[in-house]
Amino acid sequence: MALLEILEFPDPRLRTRAEPVTRFDAELVRLVDDMFETMYAAPGIGLAASQVNVHQRLLVMDVSGDRSDPMVFANPEIIARDGIGLMEEGCLSVPGIFDEVERAQRVTVRAQDRHGITFERELTELAAVCLQHEMDHLDGKLFVDYLSSLKRDRIRRKLEKDRRARTERHDAKVPVGAARV
Ligand code: ZN
Repeated sequence: MALLEILEFPDPRLRTRAEPVTRFDAELVRLVDDMFETMYAAPGIGLAASQVNVHQRLLVMDVSGDRSDPMVFANPEIIARDGIGLMEEGCLSVPGIFDEVERAQRVTVRAQDRHGITFERELTELAAVCLQHEMDHLDGKLFVDYLSSLKRDRIRRKLEKDRRARTERHDAKVPVGAARV
């Protein structure tokens, strides 16, 4: 298994609309395993393939808190939704930012598992919100798109500044003369 690199806002690759999963082969199973490893390590409760630069309609989730309910959704489709609620969301692609988004409180999803078998599952509360958030990623949409453009610009500037600070710290760790080999 391997940790995958998570793309961060405002990376334009996050805006790619994902294509349906058509091949349920060993490569897909390996991708699913790598996505779980990456999600748990982050740590996060959901990860869409779009976030690791694989533009297929595939996402993984586990909202149990103890890794006991790993869920895989390939080609997910919401076939019923009910209720509206506001919940605070975060995103591994928008690190350190949390804000409220309005979502359906209960959804029924039809999808395929990692072997291509079709199933339906009803999700509520956090799991329902997480699924809707991850499905947005497959359409190139981020939770910050629900916020005002003023707020989104502020978030973009903050993340760019954080990233610069990270890079500078990293550079500072290279000892003087290290390039002389
Ligand atoms: Zn996200």
